[in-house]
Amino acid sequence: MDLLEELCTTPGVPGREHRIRTLIEGHAKRLFDSIVTDTMGTLICTRKPRPAPARGKKRTTAKPPRIMLAAHMDQIGFLVSHVDDKGFIRLNPVGGFDTRNLFARLVTICPDVRDPKKDLPGVLNPGGKPVHIADQADKTKVPEIHEFFVDTGLPGEEVKKKVKIGDMVVLSARYSHVGNAIVSQCLDNRVACWLAVEAIGNLKHHEAEIIVAFTVQEEVGLRGARTSAYAIKPDIGIALDTTLCVDTPGVPGEMAITNQGKGVAITCMDSTSIADYDLLETFETIARKRRIPYQRSIMMRGGTDAGTIQASGAGVRTMTLSIPTRYIHTVTETVHKDDLEAAVKLLTAYLTEARA
Ligand SMILES: [Zn+2]
Repeated sequence: MDLLEELCTTPGVPGREHRIRTLIEGHAKRLFDSIVTDTMGTLICTRKPRPAPARGKKRTTAKPPRIMLAAHMDQIGFLVSHVDDKGFIRLNPVGGFDTRNLFARLVTICPDVRDPKKDLPGVLNPGGKPVHIADQADKTKVPEIHEFFVDTGLPGEEVKKKVKIGDMVVLSARYSHVGNAIVSQCLDNRVACWLAVEAIGNLKHHEAEIIVAFTVQEEVGLRGARTSAYAIKPDIGIALDTTLCVDTPGVPGEMAITNQGKGVAITCMDSTSIADYDLLETFETIARKRRIPYQRSIMMRGGTDAGTIQASGAGVRTMTLSIPTRYIHTVTETVHKDDLEAAVKLLTAYLTEARA
């Protein structure tokens, strides 16, 4: 699990994926035949077919399918939008935050996209009166994102020297093992980056050409997947991502979307794409045959990279393989270890069995 922890604790918001890309590239080197970074910053890793030795059988001359796996490597976060004379920093979000989860948080400001030594710690809070002096209306109001500010504990002039508009800011939080679960920020979507590396690492023989795209700027509209799919021109695109898991108190069962510990999720549709039906059946057949726990899911709001891959070029057969994740887009995103195991098994099996 060390790799997952490393992935979850390396910052990279949309358009500032430099550090996370370097980390992934380091781990991907031994697994792929070629690795390139495209114009927008997506890391495209290609693994040529490695067919099993043909024992007496005639080798098929059919062209191997090109399978694109897309795991977005960006995380939700902020860019600095203003530094005032007192040194308080205002933020512009990159990705969808629920501001109810942003009170009293430690953050990390990253003035240098590549060099963590220049990072500064800060405290995030909304402006306004604390509970002791607040009136009734203040107490029930949920502040908007522009009302939050970061306090670095440094004098205004020093902050202005160190921090620029456009610098990346991320929430800071621990990576923990809690019962049978892993709890961390950024499991959306570093858990899928981890899944891709694990599954490729497990492969022995496969006939497909596999291209793993660690995409950029997913959280602001599936942008990196759109341009990388145009270049890759895959036959099949599988997005790897987290999906909502709201099997928790206060939500009726029919709205749970997925249930934790019940297996990897095969996403039938979300608001950006409907899964290719043959792919859906292929994944299900493999899961049943190998007794890998899985669950079907539909996410009515929100999308994955499958959305832009499917509609790229002349169209691509796509599906999303998802990890059920509780408390998504908070610093306590929670995934079950059994679901991770099921996801690795199913993806490895699919890539091993994929034929022309
Ligand atoms: Zn995601």
